[in-house]
Amino acid sequence: MDDKKKSLNTEEDEDSDNSRRASRRKKAKVEYKEMDEQLANISEDEYYSEEEKKDKTVEKEVKDVKEVKEVKEKVEKPAPVKSETDPEIPDNVSENDDPTGLEGAAFQSRVPFDKMTSQEAACFPDIVQGPPQSQKVFLYLRNRISKLRDLDASCKEYDQLQAQQKEMEDKLHELEANPPSDVYLSTRDRQILDWHFANLEFANATPLTLLSLKHWDQDDDFEFSGSHLTVRNGYSCVPVALSEGLDIKLNTAVRKVVYTPSGVEVTVSNAKNNTNSQTLKGDAVLCTLPLGVLKECLRGNSLNSVQFQPALPEWKSAALQRMGFGNLNKVVLCFDRVFWDPSANLFGHVGSTTASRGELFLFWNLYKAPVLLALVAGEAAAIMENVSDDVIVGRSIAVLKGIFGNNAVPQPKETLVTRWRADPWSRGSYSYVAAGSSGNDYDLMATPVSPQAGTLPRLFFAGEHTIRNYPATVHGAFMSALREAGRIADQFLGAPYTLPSMKTEGAKT
Ligand SMILES: Cc1cc2nc3c(=O)[nH]c(=O)nc-3n(C[C@H](O)[C@H](O)[C@H](O)COP(=O)(O)OP(=O)(O)OC[C@H]3O[C@@H](n4cnc5c(N)ncnc54)[C@H](O)[C@@H]3O)c2cc1C
Repeated sequence: MDDKKKSLNTEEDEDSDNSRRASRRKKAKVEYKEMDEQLANISEDEYYSEEEKKDKTVEKEVKDVKEVKEVKEKVEKPAPVKSETDPEIPDNVSENDDPTGLEGAAFQSRVPFDKMTSQEAACFPDIVQGPPQSQKVFLYLRNRISKLRDLDASCKEYDQLQAQQKEMEDKLHELEANPPSDVYLSTRDRQILDWHFANLEFANATPLTLLSLKHWDQDDDFEFSGSHLTVRNGYSCVPVALSEGLDIKLNTAVRKVVYTPSGVEVTVSNAKNNTNSQTLKGDAVLCTLPLGVLKECLRGNSLNSVQFQPALPEWKSAALQRMGFGNLNKVVLCFDRVFWDPSANLFGHVGSTTASRGELFLFWNLYKAPVLLALVAGEAAAIMENVSDDVIVGRSIAVLKGIFGNNAVPQPKETLVTRWRADPWSRGSYSYVAAGSSGNDYDLMATPVSPQAGTLPRLFFAGEHTIRNYPATVHGAFMSALREAGRIADQFLGAPYTLPSMKTEGAKT
């Protein structure tokens, strides 16, 4: 709207405002006329109540002379009562009459319209004692002023409401002109939130968008209590100790698993060059291939594609396809000196964008030696797998310089970068409950497979992806192996295991 139109509208508004007030005045005038007609029909006697009539003089009713004086003082401007000789006044009151001239104590409260109150009578004895016409004029004026006062109050209230409405409309226009931002977080808030998301993506080894909203934390209730600890000399000392006295064939890859009602045959060869192929025979086989490798087996044609004969049943392959196998990578940085606070176990780094939130978001100070271990989680874990070690280490140093200052951070003496997704022997880090999957799929992964319907199961499964209550952990993998050892022992040493029917089973989301 241009300024000209605006000013026109303002005038129009004022006009309509005035006309509204004028019409209210007209309505009031009609009411006064009606009142006047009523007054004209009232006889002299009707002006006084029965009680008043009994009194010989109105003055006698005024007992408290002091009160009368006070009332008189309040009458600032005596009412310009028309004289007896001007009987036309009630019938010809113009719209421009000034009603305020009669303001006084007599009009400060609602009074009977057809008679004078005792206070009025005390204030205006001349009128009381005068001819009835004087009282008629008095009552007409008093009632009119009273009405005008009400009208005036209503007009003032109306004006106030209009001012309020205008104020609210102005505010509304202001808000409409400046709508709130779609993003309600500041950049800093968003970064902090992203850091916590990255921490969740680290725990689940996957971008949050891939997780099952319903089941992602289905194992939380079973978490062991107690502090988090690091195993002295590294976790590898656990399998080393467990394998003591066992015939472990290192650098030997399983290529094929054949399971029949009478037993199993496992073909193995050198993991690096596929030489020295041999076939191992047994009553049963316990498959602990990582979920990532099992997924690859379904696709075939990979460097590490184990062939199952017969193929895995549909319920098993469907479950392992539904399940998620995530990724999490580490960057190990060995320095010649400690430049961080040695008493802090860890420190964080907040990424500059949501996309990079998982990149080097957490540094661990786990050793007494000057070694830092940085985590790469979420989408960054996959992206960084395609980047060279030099670039990743350079990025790590840049992040550390951002935290500790340019001069405080030396070049690392040694570095190590993992790429678990690219590793053909793992194809990822650990399992997660993907959208469409549930804890039930872990149970399906744990269920043994028979070569034919009605025969004993020969193919058993263990590993972190087979233990519903403790997935994605070393202790879960260990417990799943104990579970299967017990199951196999039961079956072959005299406590037959009955397979549940798997035909209709599937993940319930
Ligand atoms: C970066 C990272 C951090 C982790 N942090 C923790 C942690 O703090 N705490 C925790 O409890 N867990 C942690 N985990 C998870 C834990 O490491 C795994 O859950 C656990 O190792 C799984 O054990 P598994 O026996 O099921 O599988 P794996 O340990 O993967 O063992 C499977 C084995 O099969 C071998 N293999 C593959 N293909 C063949 C083949 N064709 N023939 C023969 N052998 C084959 C592989 O080489 C491997 O040795 C972490 C994992 C990662 C990747």
